[in-house]
Amino acid sequence: MSTIFKKIIDKEIPSDIIFENDKILCFKDINAAAPIHLLIIPKKEIATVNDIEQSDKELIGEMFIAAKNIAKKMNISEDGYRLVVNCNDNAGQTVYHLHMHLLAGKKFLWPPG
Ligand code: AMP
Repeated sequence: MSTIFKKIIDKEIPSDIIFENDKILCFKDINAAAPIHLLIIPKKEIATVNDIEQSDKELIGEMFIAAKNIAKKMNISEDGYRLVVNCNDNAGQTVYHLHMHLLAGKKFLWPPG
């Protein structure tokens, strides 16, 4: 089933796009949990980590490459950043379209709460 992120991909609703190519979209999270809070998503509709298939392995790699390149462009590579992927209810997933949070601009606690 399609989600709000599909509407963002299709430009049916606005978003603050940071990066886009044929496979990946990166835009600002509407409810930032850190000074920098971006979402990196595949354009392919994959609901959760549980739904990733063997044939998606290159696409998943592209998400990490996008994260690395965006971090470099935003000058946060050296200070550091956190990549988070929530899967299902216990992790707090609210949008069922696979996404990687890129969080930066502050020091994060570990382990998370
Ligand atoms: P998760 O809780 O891991 O599923 O993360 C979903 C994220 O999507 C949350 O951080 C929301 O703030 C964010 N979000 C939901 N709707 C939008 C939207 N229209 N534009 C940007 N970010 C959104």
